[in-house]
This record gives sequence, structure tokens and C-alpha cells, in this order.
Amino acid sequence: MDLSSLQPRLLLGPGPSPVSDRILAALARPTLGHLDPQFLAVLDDVNEGLRQAFGTRNETTFPISGTGSAGMEAAMVNLLEPGDTAIVGVNGVFGGRLAEVARRLGAEVVQVDAPWGRTLPEEALIEASRAHPEARLLAVVHAETSTGAWQPLAEVGAHLAGMETLFVVDAVTSLGGVPVEVDAHGVDVCYSGTQKCLGVPPGLSPVTFSPRALERIRTRGTPCPSWYLDVSLIAGYLGAERRYHHTAPINLIYALHEALSEVREEGLEQRFQRHLEVGRRLQSELAGRGFTSFTDPEHRLPQLTAVHLPEARDEGPLRRRLLDQFAVEVGGGLGPASGRIWRIGLMGHGARHESVDRLLEAVDHLMRAAA
Ligand SMILES: *Cc1c(COP(=O)(O)O)cnc(C)c1O
Repeated sequence: MDLSSLQPRLLLGPGPSPVSDRILAALARPTLGHLDPQFLAVLDDVNEGLRQAFGTRNETTFPISGTGSAGMEAAMVNLLEPGDTAIVGVNGVFGGRLAEVARRLGAEVVQVDAPWGRTLPEEALIEASRAHPEARLLAVVHAETSTGAWQPLAEVGAHLAGMETLFVVDAVTSLGGVPVEVDAHGVDVCYSGTQKCLGVPPGLSPVTFSPRALERIRTRGTPCPSWYLDVSLIAGYLGAERRYHHTAPINLIYALHEALSEVREEGLEQRFQRHLEVGRRLQSELAGRGFTSFTDPEHRLPQLTAVHLPEARDEGPLRRRLLDQFAVEVGGGLGPASGRIWRIGLMGHGARHESVDRLLEAVDHLMRAAA
């Protein structure tokens, strides 16, 4: 494959999202050594920009070298020891992945389930926490990308503030798209990914750990079984001390730096407003064309729209034609939603009215042709 022949696509799937020219240019800046003072200054800015995006003052806030799943694994592998109880909300693929990671670490997983497309009732999570006061952590997905559900966090966070149980939140698809209030919601560990609403290519996972979470890690009975994802070792490099642990993906960190500059220039509130406005417009336009929501209408994310096609049309061939003829990518369903829905992401630079216009024009064309 000749790379110069790669055709650009409009990325309106569940990630990766479109990357701006500014961010692509940042990737092409000179590669520096991982302990070069210039690079360390870039890293300082990145860590501070991430604190603002996460809504936290946590010192231990930095990008882990790996995709969103690396952040998920880091949260669980640092907090859990074999035999610990972990309460995990499961209402889609990513909650299921959290539960699986916890189980592989030897935790007793107490699963709180909700149907796909619905949120987890906060009362059910609080109930599980009351029944298991010994639980080490309670984990939920804020923006369930497999279903489009937007999980409320406030009541669970307030409840856990008075408990030993740590609050873990997956913000892979929410960070930079909808408000993520780590400190205000009492979240102890939050992780994200760069290729969704931040608009950076995949490869980094911003994480933040509260002092309470770090205290738990300090008092573990056994060392963290993952050397690479051991947050105290990573913090020695990416945090204040700057001791070599692994070689950071230098150029990707430039890209994240540029993305966080974009966030600062636009303003977080304006960015949330843009995602909300563009996402709601797409949702109403699709409803007018006979697409129906897969997600509980009360809890739809603006940046990820999951819909059934009109008249139960076969989604696969139409999605393929959207890509081949119109160079627009949307996602299909996962798990029980496989073959049944489209998942349309309007994330980061993709969250623009022009994206909606281009998608709708293509959809109208395809629907006329299929009629
Ligand atoms: C995409 C995603 C992940 C996994 O991120 P990768 O970058 O694919 O490893 C985890 N959680 C949620 C909610 C996601 O949307």
C-alpha cells in the first residue's frame, strides 16, 4: 500500500475522530529526547491542560502511553488486589470490558446491569454500594460509546464521598465533549482517550488519580502486577521527578499539547455547547427521516448518536456505500446491537454543522437509491 494514495475520510464513527491540520502539523515537529528540558516543558503544559479538562486539581494527572483501554487497565490494575470487591456498572461494551479487566485481576465483581441503551439507575449503584461497603471501587462509564447513553454521576459521587470505596469513571468519549467534573463529582480515578472528543490520533490515555486513590495504592499489600502501568512508577517520569520509566511517545504528546491549546482557545464551555448543538441537530434531522433512537431519549449523548435505520433497513451495505461512495465513516453496532444500528460520532473537529450537512446529503442519496 502506497501511503500517498490514502484517501481521506470524514470520520463520523465512534472514534477515531477527525484530526485538524494544526494537530497533524504538531505531530511533524522535531522529535526530542524523552528527558530533553524542552520536551519536559511541553509535558508540564499538557498535564496542566488535562487538569483543566478533567476539572481537577489532582497532581497525578498525565497521559498514559497507550489508547483508552490502557487507561482503563491502569485504573483497575493499580487499585485492585485479588479478592477485592469491585462494583461495576454494565450497560454496554465498555462497562463489560471494565468488569472483565477486574475479574482477570482476581477481584470479586458485583455487576450492576442495565439494558443496552439505558443508563444505570443511580439508586441501583448506591444500593450495591450499601450492600458491599467493603468494595474497593465502584466503576461506571460516563459516555457509553456502544449505546450512546449519558450516565449521570452526581448522586453516586456524593454517596461515595462518605465511604472507603473509590469512584472510577471512564471518560474516554466524554472528555472535551461534555462536562467531566472530576473534583465536583468526587471521582477518584478518571481516564480518557485522545481519539474521541479531543481530536488527537489514537495512542494516549489521559488519566487522573486523587490523593485518596494514591493513598490506597501506597497501602497495597502486593505490588501492582503490571510494571508498565504502575502509576507510581509512571508518575516518577511523567510527574514532577522526571526519572526514566519508559520512552514517552514524544510526537503524540505534541499533538495532545496542540489539542489542549485548541480547547483553551475555544473555551471548554463553548466546546460543550458546540457538541450539544450539533449533536441535537443531527438527532432531530435523523428523526425527521425515520431513524429511531436506540438510546433512551432522556439520556442521549450529543457526541454519539445510536440509531435504528428507517424501515429496519440492512445497515451494513448502506454503511459500506457511505464509506465507498461518499468517504464518510460511521460505526455499526457492537454485541447485541450488531447489525441493528448506526453509531454516529460528532466528536472534536467532527462536531460541526458541515459534518451533519455532508452526512445528511449522503444519507438522503442512499435512501433514495435504496427506495
Ligand atoms: C473507545 C473507548 C474505550 C477504549 O478506548 P481505545 O482507545 O479503543 O482503547 C474505552 N471506553 C470507552 C467508553 C470508549 O468509548
